[in-house]
Amino acid sequence: MTWETHERYSRQIPLIGEEGQRRLLDSRVVVVGLGGLGSLVSTYLALAGVGKLTLIDGDRVEWSNLNRQLLYDEASIGLPKPVIATRRIRQYNTHTEVDYNITRITENTDLEKTIGKPDLVIDALDNWTSRKILGKYTCKNNIPLVHAAVDGFYGQVILLDPNKGYCIDCIAPRTEHKRKTPIPNVGAGVGVIASLEALTAIEYLSGITDRTGTLYVIDLKHRQITELKLKPCHKTL
Ligand SMILES: [Zn+2]
Repeated sequence: MTWETHERYSRQIPLIGEEGQRRLLDSRVVVVGLGGLGSLVSTYLALAGVGKLTLIDGDRVEWSNLNRQLLYDEASIGLPKPVIATRRIRQYNTHTEVDYNITRITENTDLEKTIGKPDLVIDALDNWTSRKILGKYTCKNNIPLVHAAVDGFYGQVILLDPNKGYCIDCIAPRTEHKRKTPIPNVGAGVGVIASLEALTAIEYLSGITDRTGTLYVIDLKHRQITELKLKPCHKTL
C-alpha cells in the first residue's frame, strides 16, 4: 500500500484491518439501480476503496429524483444516470475503476455480459420484477447479493449468499404485484437504508462480518430495527 492509500483509508483501517482494506481494493462490485439507494451505496463503496465498480441503470435523471439521489443535481436533469454517476464517482476516488451500462434489468437483458462474475452484486432496484431476474442470475452463478428496499418509512436489508443456500426467493417466494403509484420516501430516510446496505457490503468484502441470511427490517418512524434470522431455502433458481 502506498503512503497516499494508507493515509486515505487511515480512519477505517483500525476497524477493518490492513488485510480487509486490501480485500476492498481487490474487489469488483456491480451496483444495479442508481436511484436513492444506488447513489449512496456506489459512493460509499468508492470512498471505502472498492477497486472496480460497474454501475447499471436505464433511467434518465428526473426532477422527482433530486430529493434523495445525491449523485445528481439540477444540471443532470434529462441525462442518463450511469453517465453522471460514473463521472461523479471518478471524482471521488480516481483509484476506483468505474464502468457503466445504460440498461434496465428485464428478461431480455444479457446479464452474463452486463454483470459478469463480480465478487458482489448490490440490489438497489425499485421494483420486484427486476429484482427477481437479478436474484435468479446471482443465485445461478453463486454471486453474493446485498438486497435493500425502501417504502415510505420502512426499509429492509439482507445479504444473500447462494454459497450458503440463500437466494432472493428466501425473502420473496411469490412474484409481487406491480405497484401503480410511485414509492413515497424522504431522502434522509432512504439514506439510512442505503448506508446500512453499503456497510453490509463493506463488512462482507473486507471479511470482518458476514451477515448472510439475517433480514434487517428498519422502521424509520419508530426508530426500530428488527432482526429476522431466515432459514436458507437451498433453491437452485
Ligand atoms: Zn432461497
